[in-house]
Amino acid sequence: MIRVFSLKSWRILVSLILVLTKRLFVTDFSPELESLIQSYVGKTVDDGNLPVWECLQCGKTSNRQYNIRGHVEAKHIEGLKLSCSVCQKCFKTRDSLRHHTRIHKDI
Ligand SMILES: [Zn+2]
Ligand SMILES: [Zn+2]
Repeated sequence: MIRVFSLKSWRILVSLILVLTKRLFVTDFSPELESLIQSYVGKTVDDGNLPVWECLQCGKTSNRQYNIRGHVEAKHIEGLKLSCSVCQKCFKTRDSLRHHTRIHKDI
């Protein structure tokens, strides 16, 4: 198995600088955020040749890609600000923002 760690680290660094310098005010989808999250995610296969997704930062693995992406967003990406379009409250992850926006649906 060949891993190009130096290239990965370089991409993570560049994406991180992009996010931090712009203090991105992202809504639900941002290409920069997507590529930043993606740069933390590696893919391998298990003994049964099934895909396994791995957090390159801490080594956490899962056979569900969205689990690892959610983990990276919650644990490894700092300085994110996602604001609610209704009340402008800020959140650190898209999951928490989505959860929050439900409270506005009953108005
Ligand atoms: Zn991790
Ligand atoms: Zn709100």
